This record gives sequence, structure tokens and C-alpha cells, in this order.
Amino acid sequence: MQTSAYSDGADGSAALRATWPGVVVSSALLGLAGGAVYALCEVAFVATDADLYFPVASVAIYGILVLFLSVPLGLIVWGGASLLGWRLSARQQWAVHAALLLQLLLVLLLRPMLVLLLAPVPWLTCAWLANRRALNDMRWAWSLCAIATAACLLAADVLGWKRSTGGGVTDEFGAALTAVAVFTVAVLLVRLLKRGTLAVSTALVVVVAVGSAWSWRPFGQINTPAPSLMRPNIVLIVLDTMRRDVLGCYGGPPGLTSCLDQLARESAVYDDAYSPAAWTLPAHASLITGLFPRTHGCRADIHHWIDEEMITLPEMLQRHGYQTAAICSNAVLDGANFEQGFERFECVDVPMGLEHMRITRLLQLLGLPDGWIDKGSVRSTCELVNWLDHERDRERPFFLFVNLLEPHQPYLAPLRHRAAVIDNIADLSAASWLGANQYESTEWDIRRVGPGRNSELARKMYEAEVRYQDDALAELIEDLSARVELDQTLLIVTADHGESLGENGRWGHLFVVNDAVLRVPLLIRFPSRFPAGSRITGICHLTDIVPTIFDVLNEPCPQDSLPGRSLAPDEFRGAEYAYSEWTPGAMVRRVTPRAFRKSQLSNLRVLRGTRFKLVWSSGGDHQLFDLQSDPAESHNLYRVNEEISRSMEFAMEKLRDALPQYSIRENAPSAPLDDRHELRLKHLGYIH
Ligand SMILES: [Zn+2]
Repeated sequence: MQTSAYSDGADGSAALRATWPGVVVSSALLGLAGGAVYALCEVAFVATDADLYFPVASVAIYGILVLFLSVPLGLIVWGGASLLGWRLSARQQWAVHAALLLQLLLVLLLRPMLVLLLAPVPWLTCAWLANRRALNDMRWAWSLCAIATAACLLAADVLGWKRSTGGGVTDEFGAALTAVAVFTVAVLLVRLLKRGTLAVSTALVVVVAVGSAWSWRPFGQINTPAPSLMRPNIVLIVLDTMRRDVLGCYGGPPGLTSCLDQLARESAVYDDAYSPAAWTLPAHASLITGLFPRTHGCRADIHHWIDEEMITLPEMLQRHGYQTAAICSNAVLDGANFEQGFERFECVDVPMGLEHMRITRLLQLLGLPDGWIDKGSVRSTCELVNWLDHERDRERPFFLFVNLLEPHQPYLAPLRHRAAVIDNIADLSAASWLGANQYESTEWDIRRVGPGRNSELARKMYEAEVRYQDDALAELIEDLSARVELDQTLLIVTADHGESLGENGRWGHLFVVNDAVLRVPLLIRFPSRFPAGSRITGICHLTDIVPTIFDVLNEPCPQDSLPGRSLAPDEFRGAEYAYSEWTPGAMVRRVTPRAFRKSQLSNLRVLRGTRFKLVWSSGGDHQLFDLQSDPAESHNLYRVNEEISRSMEFAMEKLRDALPQYSIRENAPSAPLDDRHELRLKHLGYIH
């Protein structure tokens, strides 16, 4: 009855040669079928998002993806089985394929990394068991498929458990361990029972499925503490590299930032907030010291050290009885003494090593798994939940700092976020390649993107990241609001800098001081002092956040002589000018020289008023823009309107004179950079 493809092949290699075309064809067919099934899952997403394009893209892209995975896996497993001399009948081969397909589909749905790598294990076990004379019955194969399903569902439970409790194991490791353990136990059980196996394994699947559904239910409020009116909890969220003008509340594309827009309706929205620096480290140092880069001195290299003598915001708040914690996604903040004053400092470690392998890029390109694309938001939210539930001191108010990094280069958001902003498959494919290739570039390819289609696609890829960041923020705020009384929490959301997306041919945020980079979003939610939905005009800086916090606490700021002032709407008066700096310093040595003109390596000082903007350059290439008639900053009036140029230069000097210069040492000391840290910075484009 059974037509064994291997019946004459005692030699495994010969058997493999005889059967590999069949394996390829069957794997390919199963791959396409898998793609179609997976697309149906995505239709559920589309049904709620009213995007009719997506099912078509899903069938194509996921079909190809499953095909990519199943053909090589099929060959590896079949080859291994043949070499070991196992002989499978045609029916058994199909059964084993079905087992793999189920496994693969679940992996695609669940997306834990190691489960993907372990996918062939149950398949091989299945092949081995199915081939044993005592088990030579199709029921065994199907039972084992069902058990594999159960194992994967339970793995999902581990993820659910991790998300809700912030357990100590990583998602992938926990899921993989559980899958393997449950599978092994289940196989042993089935072998022991020998009879009625289909019923037993089906029951097992039903039990685990019900358990899964239960564990994925939304979690309710957990241990909400009594609100403290006098000492609010403080949450400061920095959306690294988030441009101001992409937020709907600042006139950005509709639907891109629904969470931030909702937050804006509940917050005071600042129209003219500026970062005192164009890149991560000095901007963050200014944020937590309340000082301009000229004063804190941490400005000229990626691994500069925030001087221990500076008093940071968490230190100030500790003196007022606050528990302090920071969760950062940007590796620049790791090893820069940013942790000073934080009782708990966590720089989430995204799997950069695997992330940049070729095969990983291919998977990312094709849409899986999110965990490999995420730049830290998922883990940050887990850490936040873990800290709130397990490490938080309920006797004290807390200050929590969170840095999220999704809009940062490289732009390669999860597929469904890409598909949501790019509306045809040809553009989606081209844009995805553009995003994926950033990983491999020895310099930033994105910087070389010229005008035209590529440039437009790169902007779309950035928007996809913004959309993904907004979704991740929504999850984080939901988890936060389940644990603290949000109305009694001072919630500040801003960005350390924006991102230039081709304005005047400039990309990224290094060497760029246009408004796309220096003007940042700023939302402050604290209804009793910051009226919901209020729009606040008038220039302010990130350095104003420290004084604002102490104004809300109604306490004197432990660090007097800070340049900033409170942003509370009842007191706020806009400044005359915004001041920012770009100081390349040692950074210059780390970038590929040919990517930048020499003049771009100058120190830049920016004075921005409500109408005119002066960019002073140490290279002598000064610029003046009239932002009213030239918001794109493309017509240099420095020599045309000399009167304004002189008066702004004078105002800039006056402002700088009022700022103490960092003088403890000539420049802030640098921290040593280990290999792993260097690799992480390289992948973010800071080092080449
Ligand atoms: Zn940054």
C-alpha cells in the first residue's frame, strides 16, 4: 500500500538524490499554501484598519517568505533523515510536511526568535517517530502535529506571562524552553498511552488553547497606589529622533500618530520647543541637567561622559524623596554616565548581532518578526511593567525616564506599518529594499538618496517608523495607566531632536541644524496645572523641563542658576530666541570623510527668533534665514541683510556670555568604548 520513495535506497545519499525534486516541489506548494493561510490572519488586521490593499501584499509577501523558509528547511531535514538511513513513505513525508507547516505558521504568528530556529526539532522528532515500526500509523503523525501546536500555543503563554508580569527570562528563551519541554513531555505521554492518542492530543490542544486565550486577556489594574496630590509621579518620555511636524497635533499626516494626538488633546501642547543640541547625547545631557551644552560640556563625541560634578534631575528628585529609574533604547546613553542619580538604569539590549545578518535582513524585509525590527520599544515596555510591578517602592513617588528609538535610522518598521503608509506594492518593495540596505552600508546610504522617488520612499519609511513608535507608545501608556493614576502623574513627552528628511539635501541629524532637527514636539499632561488641549506659543527649550518639574512640585530647584524657566501655562513667557549648538569634535574622526563636505564639519551655533534664524559657523560659512518668507531655510541672507545679521550675532554673543562655559576640565572626559558598545553605535550610524 505504501509507496516508499526510499525503499531501494539503503544508501542515504542516493535516497536524497532520488527524492529532492519532490521535496522542493512539495515544500514550495506548502509554502504558498502557508502564505495564503497567513494572509487570512492579516485580513483580520485589515478588517479593523480598512486597508484593502494589505491582503494582496500579504499573500504575495508571506507566501514567498514561507516558501523561502520551507524549501531550505525541507532539504536540511530530508537530507539529515536520508543520511541517517530513515525511510519514510510518501504519506509519512506529507504528514511530516504538515507538521512543519503548522509549526511554521505558528512561528510566523508568534514570532519568538528561537522558536523559529527550533522549528525543525519537532519535525525531525516527528519523522523519527513516524518511521518506527511500532508507530507506523498516520494517527501518530497527526497527533504529533497537534502536540506541536499545543507547544507553540504554550510558548505564546510564556510571552503573555512575560508581558504581564515582567518575568526574569527573555521572551524568546522562555518561549523556546517551554515549547521544547512541553513537546518532549507530550511525546512521552503519547508513547506511554499508545491508544487513543488522537483524543488525548486533541484534548491537550483544546486545554492549552483555552489557557492561551485566557492568558492573553487584557489585564486589569494592578495594585494602583493611592494618589499623592503633593508629590506626583513623574514620567519623562523621550521619543528619540521624532520630528515635530509628523505629529497630527502639529499638522502632520492624519492617522499617523493617533496615540500622540490623543495625548495632545489631554495635554498642554508647546508649539515652539527647541532642542539645545542636534543629536542624542548633548540633548539628553541638557534635558537632565537643565544646562546648555556649553555649560555641561558633554557635546563633542558619542562616548562623552556627563561630568560627575553635574547635578542631574534624578539626583535632584532623589533629594526630594523620589525613587528614580531610567529605561533607554539608545546605546548612546549607555556608558555616558547618564545613569548618575538613577537607582535603576536599564539600557535595553536589542539583538544587534543577529539583526544584521543577511538572512535576518531578508526576514525583516519580508515582514518578520517584529522583535527583530523593534529598536527597543517592546523590551522597554516590558522593563517598565516589571519595574512598576516588582521594583517600585510604593512608599515613595517615582521619577521614570524612558527613551524610545523607533524613528531613528535605519528606517525599517514592521511590514504592516510600512504597508500602512505606502500604498502600492511596487513602492513598498522598493522602499523596503532601501530600508534593509541601510544595515549593510559602510556609510549612510540614506544620505546619498537624491531627490525624486527614492527620497520620497525614504520619507515614507520614516513615517512608517513614526507610526510604529506611536503604536508602541500607546501600549506603554496603556500599561502605565493600568498601574498609576494618570491624572496624578506629571507626564512629559518630547524628543531629543528631529530628523532631516532631505530638506536642502540633508538627511539624518548629524551635521544638520535645520528646524526639522532642532524644533521638537513637547506635550505635558498634568490636568490640574496644564489645561488639556491648550496650545502654548512662545520659544522654549528642553532645558526648561527641570525648572518646570520643580515648579509643579512647588519646591525650590536644588540646582539654582539654571538658565531655564517653568513651562507651566500660568507662568510661561516665551524666550526671545532659541539657542542650539552642533559641535562635531572627535565625532569628525569617526565618520566617513567623503560623505561630508569639509564645511559641514564646522562648529555651528544657531540662534532662532520668531522670524530670523542665524547659523554661525566656525568655518566662516555663516547663514541667515527669514523663516517667514523662507521656511525651508534655502536662501542665505547673511550678506544680503547685514543689519539683521549683525544684530543677531550680537544677541547670540550676549546669550552665550550669560551661559557659564564648562570649565571643570577642558572637555568632558570620555568613557571607554567596548567592542559590543561600538557595534551597537555602528548599527545606529554613529560610527563607521
Ligand atoms: Zn537622539
